[in-house]
Parts: sequence; structure tokens; C-alpha cells
Amino acid sequence: MKDYNIRKRVLITGGAGFLGSHLCETLLDQGAEVLCLDNYFTGTKNNIKPLLGNPSFELLRHDVTFPLYVEVDEIYNLACPASPIHYQHDPVQTTKTSVHGAINMLGLAKRVNAKIFQASTSEVYGDPEVHPQVESYWGNVNPIGVRSCYDEGKRCAETLFFDYYRQHNLRIKVGRLFNTYGPRMHPNDGRVVSNFIVQALQGIPITIYGDGSQTRSFCYVDDLIRLMVLFMESGDDMTGPMNMGNPNEFTILELAEHVTEMIGSSSEIIFKDLPADDPKQRSADISIARNKLGWEPTTQLKEGLRHTIDYFDKLLSESKG
Ligand code: NAD
Ligand code: UDP
Repeated sequence: MKDYNIRKRVLITGGAGFLGSHLCETLLDQGAEVLCLDNYFTGTKNNIKPLLGNPSFELLRHDVTFPLYVEVDEIYNLACPASPIHYQHDPVQTTKTSVHGAINMLGLAKRVNAKIFQASTSEVYGDPEVHPQVESYWGNVNPIGVRSCYDEGKRCAETLFFDYYRQHNLRIKVGRLFNTYGPRMHPNDGRVVSNFIVQALQGIPITIYGDGSQTRSFCYVDDLIRLMVLFMESGDDMTGPMNMGNPNEFTILELAEHVTEMIGSSSEIIFKDLPADDPKQRSADISIARNKLGWEPTTQLKEGLRHTIDYFDKLLSESKG
């Protein structure tokens, strides 16, 4: 018989990363027992340092490409490098992380009858021909390009999630995350928000790839984590895929201008080659999240950038000693 006084046990893979560390914190605040799994490829112990003394928090060094057996009620599968320079550093390992990681975590969920969330991505839409992107759009992905290890790895993970759902009645939640930013992003991971802020704070040139007319919609981390938890708590019929992001769309040039203006930076803007297969236009259609979960992002770009700038400012001052 289930003892309802026992607290929910949650496994978070990639828990020492940017999003994972915020999720660990939120779930601990809500009274869960959290098992944070990471191999520290892009995450760091620093991200979860404040949680280490909490008796409900446990840390496990493990690589999701290897099987794992633990007793948990819910699994959030976030393990995977997310920035292009990190996921292209060892592309074979990136595909293995998404595919073998999904197989191992789905196998675990099946054995222990856990509910499982997959951090999928807007990259499953590739360089989209439908705008804004709706979940029913199948995407336009180059299967052999430099981004494919990430895009196709995540697409295959989605396939595995839906096959476990159809074949084994597993309770799945597939979320397609759009560009998310905030404190604890890695300062050198090459993503656009962290790059521009760090460059502007250091007074070095802001590097725009291409002419800066490509667009992204940027979600602040707190909004995204709130949605992740809401989604996990929703009924079993809510499998997704569900877009998760802030639909407000900006060109990369506009982002650079906001950042330099807010920091009052003298950094010049320079233009570099656009990387291969870089999506030209991206914005989330979030009707499903809005209508089915009543979710709305509440932190808009300037406010989110302010928190993120303050974080990097402090981090850079500390590293100067
Ligand atoms: P991140 O790089 O900060 O976090 C990923 C974490 O996974 C890191 O702590 C890393 O060490 C860990 N990891 C990587 N490979 C692993 C492995 N084989 N075994 C165990 N741990 C491993 O990135 P993030 O932004 O926090 O992204 C988290 C998840 O969300 C990723 O799956 C990413 O694809 C997805 N996502 C993020 C965004 C975004 O904008 N932040 C957008 C779309 C999807
Ligand atoms: N980008 C840029 N300068 C940078 C880093 C990124 O112009 O220093 C561009 C990049 O080419 C892309 C957009 O910003 O068009 C978002 O890049 P990011 O790596 O953050 O995310 P993704 O391409 O995965 O959406």
C-alpha cells in the first residue's frame, strides 16, 4: 500500500546544469526529495552548492549513457549539452547522450513506474518553414549537418518517448524548450545571451553571427521552470509534445542593442560568419501551454536581462578576485 506521507522522490538528470539547478531548487522548495544526477560535462557543482547541506538533496555522479537503477516517482531528463559549441565538441557523445540517455531513463521509468519528462527542443523544427512554430509542424532538419547530433538526437529521443507511451503505457511528458536564459548559464558556453552580456561587461566586441536579422524568442528561466513543474503535475493525457518558451520574438541585432544599452557598454558590434544551418526565424506558438495549463510567461526580456546582467557582473567581479 502506498504511504501518502512519504515525500515525492524526483530524479533530475543534468541537475547540475543551468536549468537543472533551478529545477532542483524549485522542487526542494516544494518539499520533494531530489536526486541530482550529472557527469559535469557542462554543469558544475557550484550551481548546486547552496543545496548540498539540504537533507532532501542527493548528488550522484553518473553518465546517462549507462544504465541506472534507483527508486523514484518522477524523472526529469535534462542531461545533454545545450549550447552549439558544447554539443558540437563531441558530436557522437551528444547523440549517445540523447538516445542512450532516453533509452536508459525510459527503461528506468518503466521498471519503477515513474512519470518522465523529456527536455526536448525547438531544434526539432530545424530551420523552420512554418512560423511561429506549432507542435503539429514536423520540422525541417538537416540530418547530416553539424547541428544534427543535437537535433536528430532529440528527435529520436521524442520517438522513443512516444513508443514507450504507446507500447508500455508509460506516463510521458515531452516539452520542446525554446531559447531560455538567466543566472547560472555558463559564461563561456557560447550561447547568445551569455556571450553578449559577458562581452558587453568586459567592453570587448559583441559578436553577431551573420547580419543579425535571424530571430529567436527568449524565455526567462523562472517562467520555464514553473511550466516544467506544471506540466509534470498535469493529467496523464497531457503527453505533449508541448512548446515551452516566451513567444516574443527579437532579432539578434535587437538583442545586442538591448544588452549594450542596458549595460551602458562601449563595446562595438562586429559581424562574423553565420554558422551552418543556423535557423533564420524562431518563435514559439504557446497556445497549448496557455490553454491547457493556464501558463503565461511573466518576465519579459528587459527584466530578465537585468537579473542575468547582475548575475554575470557579480560572477566576473568575483573571478577578478
Ligand atoms: P546545460 O549544459 O547547462 O545542462 C546540461 C547538463 O547535463 C549539464 O549539467 C551537463 O553536465 C549534463 N550532462 C551532459 N551530458 C550528460 C551525460 N551524458 N550524463 C549526465 N549528465 C550529462 O544546459 P541547459 O540549458 O541547462 O539545458 C538542459 C536541457 O534542456 C538540455 O537537455 C537541453 O537540450 C534542453 N534545452 C535547453 C534550452 C535552453 O535554452 N537552455 C533550449 C532547448 C532545450
Ligand atoms: N549568435 C550570435 N553571436 C553569438 C552567439 C550566437 O550572433 O556570440 C547567434 C547564433 O548564430 C544564433 C542565435 O544567436 O543565430 C542564437 O544562438 P544560440 O547559440 O544562443 O542558440 P541557438 O542557435 O541554438 O538558438
